[in-house]
Amino acid sequence: MYKVAVVKCGSYDSSEVMESLNRALALIGGIDTFLPASSSGTILLKPNLLAGEPPEKAVTTHPSVMQAIATTLLQKECQVQMGDSPGLGDPFKTAVKSGLQPVYDLGVLPADFETVVEMHSPDGRVSRRLPTAAAVAGADLVVSCAKLKTHALQIYTGGVKNLYGCLVGLNKAKQHFRYPDRDVFADFLLDIYTAVMPGLTIIDGIMAMEGNGPRTGTPRKAGVLIVSGNALAADLAALQVIGFFPNKIPIFRAAKKRNLRPFSIDEIQWLGDDLADVQIQDFVPAVTTRVSFGPQLLQRPLRNLLIAYPDINATRCQSCGACMKICPAKALKMVGGQVRLSRSKCITCYCCHEACTYGAIDLHCGVLGRTAAKLMRTE
Ligand code: SF4
Ligand code: SF4
Repeated sequence: MYKVAVVKCGSYDSSEVMESLNRALALIGGIDTFLPASSSGTILLKPNLLAGEPPEKAVTTHPSVMQAIATTLLQKECQVQMGDSPGLGDPFKTAVKSGLQPVYDLGVLPADFETVVEMHSPDGRVSRRLPTAAAVAGADLVVSCAKLKTHALQIYTGGVKNLYGCLVGLNKAKQHFRYPDRDVFADFLLDIYTAVMPGLTIIDGIMAMEGNGPRTGTPRKAGVLIVSGNALAADLAALQVIGFFPNKIPIFRAAKKRNLRPFSIDEIQWLGDDLADVQIQDFVPAVTTRVSFGPQLLQRPLRNLLIAYPDINATRCQSCGACMKICPAKALKMVGGQVRLSRSKCITCYCCHEACTYGAIDLHCGVLGRTAAKLMRTE
């Protein structure tokens, strides 16, 4: 059984977060259990820094959570670094814009998320060569400090999906083009997970994100911190909290296929507060949930009804070009000062949706797709 601590935490007040984190760590054996053998070993804190957004938008892992884990590790005299690779932009500036300067001020060093090092994924099914950040390859312990959010492509993002930021910058968008199929991409995420293998996972579910995550969804109080030595186990607990079924989540379908455990809720040992006290019954999924059924010939005509394509809002669009820069399929171009989408080229990876600082890219789904999103909550 894989231990997971799920503890209530009602706010981002720093002493409350520290108390909850301490309680969670104690439940799974204490922080010492997870430290590298050598005290000179490097620990990498990997928050979710999708973009430089203020903490109250619930896009990024909250600074209070990062401060709590950093303080805990620094008290043990560990060498602690912190960083992530946003889709676009400078990693350090993104961290500062996300409110993480106070964490660096504690004595945490900025991690190198610009130098690319090829990391080998021995159990890789989709790819065994991963263009990861030097900081990831050099760490003795990676702590996945994730944010509990919905995700347009993968339905849910938490401890495992957070590791996608271990790849550097535009390499991330390129991989979407190489692996446009959602299930293959989920398998690729597991290649990253098994290569990086975080020794500790902390999911910030104090303010989660529902709806069209991971960037433009709606903050939703879930009031929990989830901590485990196993990222899949932490994610299983998070899915329980928001009432999503693992068998509907591509990462867990892929994990089951390759017998990567745990992939079922029966395999985790739930510690801390009762599920009944933390579960949310009406957590809203993204509109982009897809179903696939029947022969391919039938699926093609239904595609437009099932799949949400990016829809550029001309009023909000500032013509900054960020979406075009990140689009791996070159499906966007500027025509007469307005961004236009070519549906035939679009691989619906939603990188543009994540990259747009102005919230100018909406995701609208046809009626069948909306029904599919509702079905996601039922077995
Ligand atoms: S990223 Fe957003 S604001 Fe910038 S061009 Fe694209 S749609 Fe417009
Ligand atoms: S237009 Fe957006 S969703 Fe479509 S391929 Fe480009 S980045 Fe991905």
